Amino acid sequence: MKLKFYGTRGSIPICDAGFQKFGGNTTCLQITFTDTNRIAIFDAGTGLRNLGRDLRAIGHKQEQILIVFTHFHWDHIQGFPFFAPAYDPGQKITLLTLGRDQTVRNLREIFEVQMQAEYFPVQLDCMGANFEFLQVADASKHFTGINNVETVLTAQRHNHPGGAYSFRIERNGKVLVICTDVEHGEQIDARLVELARGADLLVHDAQYTAEELQKRRGWGHSSFDQALQVAEMAGVKRLALTHHDPEHDDEFLERIEKLCRERFSNTVLAREGMEIPISEAPRTTSRSPGRLSRRTRVTSSPRK
Ligand SMILES: [Zn+2]
Ligand SMILES: [Zn+2]
Repeated sequence: MKLKFYGTRGSIPICDAGFQKFGGNTTCLQITFTDTNRIAIFDAGTGLRNLGRDLRAIGHKQEQILIVFTHFHWDHIQGFPFFAPAYDPGQKITLLTLGRDQTVRNLREIFEVQMQAEYFPVQLDCMGANFEFLQVADASKHFTGINNVETVLTAQRHNHPGGAYSFRIERNGKVLVICTDVEHGEQIDARLVELARGADLLVHDAQYTAEELQKRRGWGHSSFDQALQVAEMAGVKRLALTHHDPEHDDEFLERIEKLCRERFSNTVLAREGMEIPISEAPRTTSRSPGRLSRRTRVTSSPRK
């Protein structure tokens, strides 16, 4: 597997100077199954536009494209109307929400409303592609690819206004966990630690510093410290932090990344366009258990 970040920003896209290293597009991840060269997409934030453009540029063809949603806040669906393959009548696109205790009543309606005439010039029915709207209430779904290799997708509902889901993707013995738009509360959510257990790569929400989080209770996000804590508790090999706050510029995020690495050295802050191969499964370089249990706080104050 290979993961590519097409959108790393949380809440709202941003195009200001000083934000370009980490990128301004909102959440959109592409997973490439390197053995079959097929892709799957997680969330349709504004980064989806570039993803679609890249697929066109390299002439990527696959009969059915799967887009899995963590939830449907704006920053996770805004790219959908600009996804070029959605205008191709020969393209089948499956939009999937997976996991127990779903509160979405009508998945199709979410996109119909987003594209109704008051908001957008082209309505969903006129886009062209053949859409399938799939709501699966099971915790896990097994997909078997063209080479008979099974991919297991497991979802865990977590705390976020309106609800959201984390995902564990297992294939060929490698594990990728995506856990964004999550607010842990006073305690780290033990269910997410279990979901992330032993992952080769954990992608985790880290919108705030610990200080900022104090003032943003109920907004549905995590601090850098909490993301590091989940990585440590779950014994993951690598950690990628994402859903960067629109107030956090490149300079600030680079500083935070250094601090995070002092505590969990195999940490990166996701940058737009960054690709992370999961097939290599590098060993964690987090040092001794004593080091792991030390609770270094990432307390750098936000930029002036
Ligand atoms: Zn979000
Ligand atoms: Zn959200």
